[in-house]
Amino acid sequence: MNLITVGSVAFDAIETPFGKTDKIVGGAGTFISLSSSFFVQNQGIVSVVGEDFPQETLDFMRSKGINIDGIQIKQGEKTFFWSGRYHNDMNSRDTLVTELNVLGTFDPVIPTNFQRADYLMLGNLSPDVQRKVIERLEKRPKLIAMDTMNFWMDIALDELKKTMALVDVLIINDEEARQLSKEYSLVKAAKVIRAMGPKILIIKKGEHGALLFHGEHIFFAPALPLEEVFDPTGAGDTFAGGFMGFIASTDDISFENMKRAVIAGSALASFCVEKFGTERLTEITKNDFDERVSKFVALANFEMNQLA
Ligand code: AMP
Repeated sequence: MNLITVGSVAFDAIETPFGKTDKIVGGAGTFISLSSSFFVQNQGIVSVVGEDFPQETLDFMRSKGINIDGIQIKQGEKTFFWSGRYHNDMNSRDTLVTELNVLGTFDPVIPTNFQRADYLMLGNLSPDVQRKVIERLEKRPKLIAMDTMNFWMDIALDELKKTMALVDVLIINDEEARQLSKEYSLVKAAKVIRAMGPKILIIKKGEHGALLFHGEHIFFAPALPLEEVFDPTGAGDTFAGGFMGFIASTDDISFENMKRAVIAGSALASFCVEKFGTERLTEITKNDFDERVSKFVALANFEMNQLA
């Protein structure tokens, strides 16, 4: 096993200016592992669902090479449910409902065959649970990446800092970076956050791309300008899954390779937003991906004659 993902496997109900869904399959862990399955054949997920979660989805995940032995199925209990409504700009949303259900008492169990994984992706969950996963691994992975959100900064900042001190890569958005560091400038924010533990920081800026801070280097990846964003849910998780899937499959944590991984994550995220939920992620082919990566390369590539 070379990659483990920990994250919610959930039901979502989403409203955007384009439409509305009933309960559909979502969850940060689902988006991350489906996205990384584009690169990694040998990965596992650690999560929990209730008895209401569809077996077909679990079978589908397995068909994508995702080992689901780490998903606990709680009989007589319900799956985590989240509902959100996007504003017209599609950049901001209101959470309408969060029913923790099985996630409220989630105690992660790491199967024996997951124990020696080289890469670990901690999806957005309580920092306490994220830390338990690190502590329950026999061997520290080569690279641990983590996502989090403002919610945990508001209610569990001390726990969050303890977990952050144990990881190598933190992936958050610009608003979260500002809240965590109390700095408006993202360069200053990066300095403050990296002093808290993660030596590598990725700040996502939605439709404005992403910044990678690694050693003394900074890399900027654009986001693909899309005519229509249908549903942004899971775009951040898809980015993280693509990033870690790429790193795990290439087994190279150099800055040069992380730049490629950021582009891979950005390309997959640009597909994710084209349809509701995980639907678009399940359709893309290698060809679609390659074409999209060429668009990213063209978008940021230019030549300039020597001035003066
Ligand atoms: P994103 O759009 O990247 O923020 O991720 C959205 C996904 O995160 C949805 O599919 C939700 O099911 C899941 N989610 C929302 N809130 C939480 C939470 N508090 N804990 C775990 N997962 C969550």
